[in-house]
Amino acid sequence: SGAMMLVRHAQQRAQLERRATLDGLTGVWNRRTFLELSARALAHDRRLRLPSCLLMIDIDHFKQVNDTYGHDVGDAVLRELCERTQGLLRAEDVLGRVGGEEFAALLPGTPEDGARQVAERIRETIASGNFLCSGEEIPVRVSIGVAERAPGEADVEPLMQRADMAMYAAKRAGRNTVVSS
Ligand code: GH3
Ligand code: MG
Ligand code: MG
Repeated sequence: SGAMMLVRHAQQRAQLERRATLDGLTGVWNRRTFLELSARALAHDRRLRLPSCLLMIDIDHFKQVNDTYGHDVGDAVLRELCERTQGLLRAEDVLGRVGGEEFAALLPGTPEDGARQVAERIRETIASGNFLCSGEEIPVRVSIGVAERAPGEADVEPLMQRADMAMYAAKRAGRNTVVSS
């Protein structure tokens, strides 16, 4: 029944929250939880033959931000980036910090053209307004790789690898760019 599902969902949720699930700095899912939630979403989409996509988001020249403004300002940039990105995603999307300055977003039920539009909106929203962190105005840019789940595929790792390769292609293409795998 719906009530039972709600209870089970609440229990699963509570179980997840007992372990460390969130990234302490940014508040988005940590890597392990991102992988776990993405695996579920991908299995669901495979079963229903729905498309799904993964975005790999990496800040451009982030080392320079740290070197120029300091590590605390760098931290604030990471937080602001997550806030802006989260604001462009839907409730069912999964956003996680998968590396120091690398974030991944799993978009369930989303085909590649839709995912590319989301990625482009994220890139644009980051680039269009300077970040105001600790009184400093900081220009921030991101490179984004997009990969779509292949039919029958439900593993996160190969999808992440393809998104990663696309993200590196975006770096080579000059950064502040979206590339699809
Ligand atoms: P690219 O455009 O090629 O991505 O260059 P980049 O400088 O962003 O990439 P690189 O991998 O050389 O540097 C990543 C930097 O991210 C170095 C590291 O100090 C910084 N970083 C990683 N985690 C954190 C963090 O939690 N806080 C801060 N402030 N910086 C971090
Ligand atoms: Mg990186
Ligand atoms: Mg980087």
